[in-house]
Amino acid sequence: MSLSRRRFLATAAAACAACVAGPGGPARAASYLGLKPGLLGKRLSPFYTPLGDGQVQCTLCPHGCLVSPGEKGRCRVRKNLGGKYYTLVYGNPCAVHNDPIEKKPFFHVLPGTFSFSLATAGCNFSCQFCQNWEISQQGPEDTINLPLSPRQAALEARRMGAASIASTYVEPTIFMEYMLDLGREAHRAGLLKVMHSNGFVNSEPLGRLIAVLDAACIDLKSMRPEFYQQVCGGELEPVQETLRRLVKAGVHTEIVHLMIPGFNDSPQETEKLIRFVRDQLSPRVPVHFTRFFPRYKLRNLPPTPPDTIVQARRRALDMGLEFAYVGNLPGHPGENTYCPQCHNLLIRRVGYWVKQNRLQDGRCPDCGRAIAGIWSRPRESKGA
Ligand code: SF4
Repeated sequence: MSLSRRRFLATAAAACAACVAGPGGPARAASYLGLKPGLLGKRLSPFYTPLGDGQVQCTLCPHGCLVSPGEKGRCRVRKNLGGKYYTLVYGNPCAVHNDPIEKKPFFHVLPGTFSFSLATAGCNFSCQFCQNWEISQQGPEDTINLPLSPRQAALEARRMGAASIASTYVEPTIFMEYMLDLGREAHRAGLLKVMHSNGFVNSEPLGRLIAVLDAACIDLKSMRPEFYQQVCGGELEPVQETLRRLVKAGVHTEIVHLMIPGFNDSPQETEKLIRFVRDQLSPRVPVHFTRFFPRYKLRNLPPTPPDTIVQARRRALDMGLEFAYVGNLPGHPGENTYCPQCHNLLIRRVGYWVKQNRLQDGRCPDCGRAIAGIWSRPRESKGA
């Protein structure tokens, strides 16, 4: 590893301690080191169909972009060069942090550990409430990127004491080629591979991803197709299908539902979401009902009233979900994990920090009930 990369990561880690969101710290660090936008990680993609007239069709996500020579797809990180389709961000993250895994948020994956988290530029959604719009709504030419191969990322993750590598901050399936190799290298290094995703990905690449993925945190932004179309530039059904597939494949899955006042926070919509999780996925899938704060194009809205979040969690538990959490309400008891059988406290949290963990070998120490999740580091590599 070059000196500049080491300095970048060390500076990024230091910046991370002082910043709340993903991208700011590394960008500052890169700027400090004199790194410039660019460093495009161009690599031929396996996820496209040539159409014979120089055009290609991307097969990675349900948008199915038709792309002419010299043009890019909607996510800004895939380009048609002479009738062949390339990813522009392989091994070139623009955000790198060593975060508590609770920040992803995973509450049922190695609690109290750190997750080496990274993202490239770009996204296949355009959510009006995006927290990381400075990188998600940019192409890699406009962000400051770090050369970081999957192997180097795994070594750096271990050096920094992480137990997993997370693809997060923007929609990670748009850097699928990088993520697949990150998964393989994570497992070689004895780390878990996890992601936080919008779930908007096609079946074939999802199948490849499942082979190297240990846990997924999926945003279920709304139960209304119009919300996905008008507020996010996406579709609901493919996201639901991804969730069904992940759960069926045995990938540990958690769901985040960001509740935006007046947009997706009605009791009817909340109950529909709970029924979907309970009846079509599993009551064992944890759901995080998360408080919205004004961001990006929805700065005119107020934050979600805390009572909306608390009531949604209560309703989820009453309707049969085993694990429901409040998000962005640090210090509320709804951040804790309780046994679904004897209701005793299992894990006590404040914000991203685990204060107490009473689980024993993934079971309640009082009644012996097995708790859904990943509670110990893997002995054998998956997909290595
Ligand atoms: S991954 Fe990007 S280029 Fe491919 S279909 Fe989706 S938005 Fe279009």
